[in-house]
Amino acid sequence: MKAPSFAYARPRALAEALELLARHGEAARVLAGGQSLIPSLNMRLSAPALLVDINGLAELKGIKAGKDTIRIGALTTHTEIERSEAVRQHLPLLAEAVRHVAHPAIRNRGTIGGSLALADPAAEYPACVLALDATLVVTGGKGDRSVKAADFFKGLFETALRPGELLAAVEFRMPGKDERSAFFELARRHGDYAIVGLAAFAGNGTKRFAYFGAADRAVLAHNAAKAKDLDSAKTALAKDLRPPADLYHSSETKLHLARVLLERAWTRL
Ligand SMILES: Cc1cc2nc3c(=O)[nH]c(=O)nc-3n(C[C@H](O)[C@H](O)[C@H](O)COP(=O)(O)OP(=O)(O)OC[C@H]3O[C@@H](n4cnc5c(N)ncnc54)[C@H](O)[C@@H]3O)c2cc1C
Repeated sequence: MKAPSFAYARPRALAEALELLARHGEAARVLAGGQSLIPSLNMRLSAPALLVDINGLAELKGIKAGKDTIRIGALTTHTEIERSEAVRQHLPLLAEAVRHVAHPAIRNRGTIGGSLALADPAAEYPACVLALDATLVVTGGKGDRSVKAADFFKGLFETALRPGELLAAVEFRMPGKDERSAFFELARRHGDYAIVGLAAFAGNGTKRFAYFGAADRAVLAHNAAKAKDLDSAKTALAKDLRPPADLYHSSETKLHLARVLLERAWTRL
């Protein structure tokens, strides 16, 4: 099918993009890599009156490693993340995760901002930003605001972004010496969305287990993270997750798979 007709704007400055979003409200939609939005238009799952193409906004692009933080602009593509030396060095969890995001053709155009703003419950990045306790930088008519990853994902394809706002960047703390991470995903084929996946972190006396494909959004398994040993963590996981069944897997199967991944991550960490 073809997309319903829409108006198209390609602003050259962030202020212009924000003005368009404020003026058109719910009728406007941001276009980044288009790898999720365009298929959804073609399938007529959505019909915005205006697409605001943000690809001309240089300030939303690139990876900057500072002294204390590493900042990834919302328009940075999956391929740029995959090829980044700074990501490999400082964010090994993200470097592992990105190889599971779709296929090269999609990774060449899809962006980290698009993935986080979409908040697909089976996507890899939302779990990574939860595991690494990252901060999302949101910009709008009233300026920037920072939202902790734990407060950003509100439900199925639902985030803390308000009408008229854009996701500008995501910021990660530079990792300390004793910090470790692990990433595991079960999918029918490499590059497919996950059946269940886990982004895990340990450091500073804290553990974080962020699951994807196991709820209506990426979620932190708080009870499992507090457990003293693996067996108690696996038992506690039932309090954290009640995965919705999909076409092929019952809720019980998904919980079992989540425990399999927990064991792998626990052992690795
Ligand atoms: C066949 C296929 C397989 C895929 N497999 C996977 C997979 O395994 N894992 C995975 O994670 N993803 C997968 N994807 C999705 C892909 O990663 C997309 O690139 C990503 O989800 C959306 O990024 P985008 O830049 O293409 O966003 P777009 O499609 O342009 O936009 C997606 C949504 O986010 C909004 N948006 C985009 N950028 C911003 C911003 N900066 N601020 C506010 N709102 C914004 C848009 O308005 C839209 O609602 C797959 C896609 C396809 C087509």
